[in-house]
Amino acid sequence: MALVNEHFLKLPGSYLFSDIAKKVNSFKVTHPKDDVIRLGIGDVTRPLPQACIEAMHRAVQEMADEATFHGYGPEQGYDFLIDAILKNDYEPRGVHLSRSEIFISDGAKSDTGNIGELLRWDNSMGITDPVYPVYADSNIMCGRAGVLEENGRWSNITYLPCNEQNGFIPSVPESRIDLLYLCYPNNPTGVTLTHEQLKAWVDYALDNDTLIVFDAAYEAFITEENVPHSIYEIKGAKKCAIEIRSYSKTAGFTGLRCGYTVVPKELTAATFSGDRVALNKLWHRRQCTKFNGTSYITQRAAEAIYTPEGKKQVRENIDYYMRNAALIREGLQQAGLKVYGGVNAPYIWLKTPEGMGSWHFFEQMLYEAHVVGTPGVGFGPSGEGYMRLTAFGTYEDCVEAVARIRKWLE
Ligand SMILES: *Cc1c(COP(=O)(O)O)cnc(C)c1O
Repeated sequence: MALVNEHFLKLPGSYLFSDIAKKVNSFKVTHPKDDVIRLGIGDVTRPLPQACIEAMHRAVQEMADEATFHGYGPEQGYDFLIDAILKNDYEPRGVHLSRSEIFISDGAKSDTGNIGELLRWDNSMGITDPVYPVYADSNIMCGRAGVLEENGRWSNITYLPCNEQNGFIPSVPESRIDLLYLCYPNNPTGVTLTHEQLKAWVDYALDNDTLIVFDAAYEAFITEENVPHSIYEIKGAKKCAIEIRSYSKTAGFTGLRCGYTVVPKELTAATFSGDRVALNKLWHRRQCTKFNGTSYITQRAAEAIYTPEGKKQVRENIDYYMRNAALIREGLQQAGLKVYGGVNAPYIWLKTPEGMGSWHFFEQMLYEAHVVGTPGVGFGPSGEGYMRLTAFGTYEDCVEAVARIRKWLE
């Protein structure tokens, strides 16, 4: 008899986006003539940069010829892509890493979900609240999160509330935590940390021997000067942090699948008897066993992001989304709503008026304005009373959505 991993049974039954889809579908059944604008799911809409398309065509041709065919590649990725990452994403920011510290992945979700395998199940852990749900869910699956309590929180997770009072910037906890997930620029709040604010977290981690998993999936959307693009811009971070990046939102790779994870050589965790073990070695071993690399064609597409044309095309797409973000942000502000984010991230986090619940506001906005957002409470208990809108739609849809919301609120 195969016994199941019963931790899976503790996971909340339905997934946020399927609940949203159900509600939108029932609206459509009763209102077949009304069109709905979706500013809910965080998926991009702009096509891939032309430089990536051309690189993939060339790579396909190579695969068609015996002389240039590629079979299994290195599990940790091809040097041509790793070198482009080191040269473009890190060296200009004064961060020096070696090739073997970069692991090419099939996207950030897999690695953020899998990285916990390197650590014992009984480490203490913390997440900011609200946040991308993968951090909690992947830890629930291995038993590290404990049990769900009546207040909607997991018994072994320390929640770091992000709310209006603290400007959505959590302060470092008073107690120590073994494993901590940070995501900046943040999904869903769209807020990010300045150099000083991120330094406070690195210092906390160094003082408390905490491992930080830093999800930088939205790094490319940063517009302000004093906002670090990498946690390694902070002194000492190589000793305490893993950084995870993705080409999904940066370059429209959500359907193509590529990202990377940085595990510095200096980064260690302890054995039960107190010896220190390099996590780079463990992650390398894990990837060699369970991952056979991102496809050659995809890695060539990712490499093309770093060419002069690729950079220009990526910038154009990001500028397109950030113009949407500014439009939504300003439009809703003028409508009298309190809004956050949208400056260094493609997300707008809005406070529901008069303390209305997230799901209540969601339904009202759907039925009155025919606009779909994501209820904030879906990202954690502190998201109650908020709604996330994404800037990933078309400009025309964003204009129309803002006009409809304003009309509805007036
Ligand atoms: C979209 C997203 C990811 C997932 O990216 P993939 O590379 O597509 O797996 C990771 N982290 C955050 C915070 C995201 O919003």
